[in-house]
Amino acid sequence: MKTIALPLTGQCQCGALCYSLDAPPFMIYACHCAVCQKQTGSAFVVSATTPENAFSFTASEPSRVTWTSDSGTERYGLFCGACGSRIVNGQTPTIGFYSLRAGTLDDTSWVRPAGHIWMRSAQPWFRPDAEDVLCEQQPTDYSPFIERFATFQTFAE
Ligand SMILES: [Zn+2]
Ligand SMILES: [Zn+2]
Repeated sequence: MKTIALPLTGQCQCGALCYSLDAPPFMIYACHCAVCQKQTGSAFVVSATTPENAFSFTASEPSRVTWTSDSGTERYGLFCGACGSRIVNGQTPTIGFYSLRAGTLDDTSWVRPAGHIWMRSAQPWFRPDAEDVLCEQQPTDYSPFIERFATFQTFAE
């Protein structure tokens, strides 16, 4: 099994906005909510839950968009102003982590969701892995996702 070394690096589609991540994600999951479908124009987002203080932009500065979520929290997205690629979403006041768009990583070979949230609005053709953690809406407890992600042993102890 291949172990992934830190830091992780990534960039937007045009390459102007680059980032580095010095700590492993807590977990990776796919979100099938209507907002994620709209933001990506796709069926779901593959999100890496990333410690905010381990994440930094290393080239260029991101553009910012804000909105209020259905649950009333103030959310924002950081994206490349040149090509429009979304890199992370965060929350104000901060909750200590970003939702990093895992597809923007330079090496996505190890990226694998531990589960799926907002299955209620998932596209009807979508079929999760039999072992994946499934949640109809927003989970109140992410520990099953964190535990399953740890079993993938992507990062060294
Ligand atoms: Zn760009
Ligand atoms: Zn979502």
